[in-house]
Amino acid sequence: MTAQLIDGNALSKKIRADVAGRTAALKARGIQPALSIILVGEDPASQVYTRHKVNDSTETGLAATLERYPADLSEADLLRRIRELNDDPAVHGILVQLPLPRHMDSHKVIETISPAKDVDGFHVASAGALMVGQPGYWPCTPYGCMKMLESIGYDLRGKHAVVIGRSNIVGKPMALMLLQKNATVTICHSATADLKALTLQADVVVAAVGKRNVLTADMVKPGAVVIDVGMNRNDEGKLCGDVDFAGVSEVAGWITPVPGGVGPMTRAMLLVNTLEAAETMAK
Ligand code: NAP
Repeated sequence: MTAQLIDGNALSKKIRADVAGRTAALKARGIQPALSIILVGEDPASQVYTRHKVNDSTETGLAATLERYPADLSEADLLRRIRELNDDPAVHGILVQLPLPRHMDSHKVIETISPAKDVDGFHVASAGALMVGQPGYWPCTPYGCMKMLESIGYDLRGKHAVVIGRSNIVGKPMALMLLQKNATVTICHSATADLKALTLQADVVVAAVGKRNVLTADMVKPGAVVIDVGMNRNDEGKLCGDVDFAGVSEVAGWITPVPGGVGPMTRAMLLVNTLEAAETMAK
């Protein structure tokens, strides 16, 4: 079997076009959807990510502001600034780029963002809303994975999904989203005794570990859907995922590439969340 590709670039383009259309409609009513991004310190990867977020926003008509602060900004000053943004009716989404400098308590910082503006979906109120099936912002990466499954018309009801990884921003919310769609979900992690025995039973495998070749062809049931969240570098220094793409493509029914898979979808879902925050506040 040669797997069909789930093209994150193509799908994210469609989603961005939809965001652009809905943004234009809001603007026609005099509402400019706006995202405020806060970057503390000089982390090189964070500088690239925040630049992308600003560019993605402006390309779709959203207003985005990047506020940069030195690494020695006090936590109190950061919290004060977040509270100001919470109170600013012209700001619909607030995103504090992680990781923060060590002297800051990132939980405290994220919990200071108003849940109504938590477009990253990292606030405990957002996590709780997902847990109990109430409206709230979903973390962008697993949300993007769900959109990829939706794009191929995949019916999760009664299917067995295995999620490898249990982080608060990817693995755990991914599992809850799959559960909401009536899949039977197994969450695996570094202490899972026999990963292969579990993945071989899976109709859907989501790999969110951060290690190359965590999922190889001998671990995949023929025809399964494989979603690769991982971002690693191969021996040549090129971006690659957690999945042995060449091998697994021969067994799986559907597969997401890296690059061009979950990455662009994550970026697109931040735009969706920001727009939806503005639409909700405009009601
Ligand atoms: P994380 O917090 O480091 O979590 C990694 C998870 O993998 C942990 O739950 C860990 O188990 C588990 N794990 C480690 N080794 C394992 C093994 N051999 N077998 C099974 N599970 C194992 O990472 P994260 O933030 O969730 O990110 C995961 C990957 O996704 C990273 O490569 C990251 O760069 C990528 N990512 C990509 C995007 C995107 O937009 N494409 C967005 C977010 C993250 P324990 O809990 O037991 O330690």
